[in-house]
Amino acid sequence: MKYFVGAALVLAACAKPVDLKQEEAKYEAYIAALPELKEVPRSEKVVLRVHYVERPQLPALNTNEREDLYRLTEDLVKKTLGYDLKIEETVVSRSKDFLKAVAPRFKTSPQRYPALAYLISFFAADRDARVLQAVTAALAKQPTERVAKYLGAHKTPEAATQFFLERLGEIYSETDFSGKAILSAANAEEEVLYSYGHWSSILQGEREADFILTNTGIIGADTGMPLYVIARGGVTSAFVENNAFRPYQGAGVIGLYPFLSDGRVFRALRGDLTFEQKLETIAWIWVHELGHLLLKKEENYTFDDSVHRTAPDLKYYAWVKRVKASRNHHTDQIPMMKKF
Ligand SMILES: [Zn+2]
Repeated sequence: MKYFVGAALVLAACAKPVDLKQEEAKYEAYIAALPELKEVPRSEKVVLRVHYVERPQLPALNTNEREDLYRLTEDLVKKTLGYDLKIEETVVSRSKDFLKAVAPRFKTSPQRYPALAYLISFFAADRDARVLQAVTAALAKQPTERVAKYLGAHKTPEAATQFFLERLGEIYSETDFSGKAILSAANAEEEVLYSYGHWSSILQGEREADFILTNTGIIGADTGMPLYVIARGGVTSAFVENNAFRPYQGAGVIGLYPFLSDGRVFRALRGDLTFEQKLETIAWIWVHELGHLLLKKEENYTFDDSVHRTAPDLKYYAWVKRVKASRNHHTDQIPMMKKF
């Protein structure tokens, strides 16, 4: 017993408190110094290396289903973005092993900054006050009509915070195959698998994959949530991050849970989907993300039926029908990003 007490004291004495302001400055300088983003030429054959991460007990895609997804995505990318794309799945891991492998990225400066700074843990004592602060800041950036459009009756910061926390809590209460909540105090160590900030650090430190697919979701509260994420109860479907090691200057993640779940919240908000519709939805979301990764196109908010405008809410399949029927994705009219 004494040994452990002693070890804890030594650790406490050795652990320097992190100066977040200093970390932020280092991180911002690092991002600013990254080379300018360049469109990947369509004349090149594009090979996308994919890492699949599975948390057992959650709905998943088996090997054949993933092969179907890869071929469908290649086909849609050819038709909509014009790339000759080959998706190669190079690594498959269990989420526990994956977390162990990426843990150093949460400690390595400067890429660790998002993991250190963004997450507002669902289990934090000061959670509600911090979420209110984040929601207040996000709402203040938007015109009143847009806030009302996304949040309806919950358009004040206080009401939006309460609505957000209730919806996020309902999502985390959806149950896995063993009947346990997908995230609760009982598996709080898995919160990083749902955390936008941690995925940001994971992607920025990634050296082997261009995309990571995981059957968890990027679902949670963070300090920089945009309005549409607040309205969805914390759900980010997918995103692309800067990456200094990979050929396309970025790396992306898709959280599959919102598409594959047949839990109460997603069935109510997204609607029931057949397996084919789920796969098709993931493929189209991936095409949208590849518009960022390969063409370096900005997020678009104006062209309703363009694949460059992501699904505005959780009614994903209505979005799929819209972009599928589109004759013009307005690709040439959408500006390029400076950074992901
Ligand atoms: Zn996007």
